[in-house]
Amino acid sequence: MIVKTHNSLKKQLKSIQLENKTIGFVPTMGALHKGHLSLMQQAINENDALVVSIFVNPTQFNNQDDLEKYPRTIEKDYSLIKKEFNDAAILVYTPSVQDVYGENVHSKSYQYDGLEKVMEGANRPGHFDGVGTILEFLFKVVQPDKAYFGEKDYQQLQIVKKLVQKLALPVKIIGCPIKREENGLAMSSRNERLSKSTRKEAAIIYKILKDARRYIKNNSISKTIQMVENKFAQLPNFELEYFTINRESDLKPAIRKSKNTALRAFIVVHVEGVRLIDNLALDL
Ligand code: AMP
Repeated sequence: MIVKTHNSLKKQLKSIQLENKTIGFVPTMGALHKGHLSLMQQAINENDALVVSIFVNPTQFNNQDDLEKYPRTIEKDYSLIKKEFNDAAILVYTPSVQDVYGENVHSKSYQYDGLEKVMEGANRPGHFDGVGTILEFLFKVVQPDKAYFGEKDYQQLQIVKKLVQKLALPVKIIGCPIKREENGLAMSSRNERLSKSTRKEAAIIYKILKDARRYIKNNSISKTIQMVENKFAQLPNFELEYFTINRESDLKPAIRKSKNTALRAFIVVHVEGVRLIDNLALDL
């Protein structure tokens, strides 16, 4: 069932809570794909009821053009959910900006112990304040037992864990693996904006991540970064915003390899005016 306001969502949730049923929550911005569906499937498997939110959150966009062009396909999204999970207990919350923010469309500010200082936080000013603001609101309305987030947005996943810890919210954050298209491109709502041929070519991003995973076994971190940058320099349609190798624990850039420190490669590439993000765990 679709609910459009947080008050009607709270009303619907009341009976679920009275019956002591567990609630799984999957927040999304819509234009749903198999990546989103995999989060929902896991939430259904692990809970009695599921809440999915579909909301393109304006305060987490630092680029007006990206916000305006973000695909909005609520009807199609709802049909997809119904088709995929026909008789599961699912509430789909599709609020307006007004329902979430009233007249004050602004972020609160959050400290995430430095997790916000690198990568997306450094390159998209205010992004994680916007993410924190919407999630604090949603967690307080939905009061889920568990909430599901994709490793596709690995930094976001770590930040959400920090957010619930700092706000002492009683929700367990579950990280879910990245779903990829057949050619390896990480599934993303933004892929919809690519031409057919570029969507095929964009498989190169994952291919180069895998090259890096292989290369770093016998080479230093800085040489690996250089290798990736050289590869992108030869691809005129693909503009590399960043490629970086950071520690999984605190997301700080990795200086040297060590068997005991898990590292991950993070990448952002622009192609046809679309910003694509991906990452891959490295085994050293
Ligand atoms: P979004 O709608 O892009 O804000 O994403 C909603 C949730 O789905 C976030 O937790 C994302 O990390 C997750 N997600 C998006 N794409 C994928 C993917 N390809 N595989 C797994 N999770 C994803």
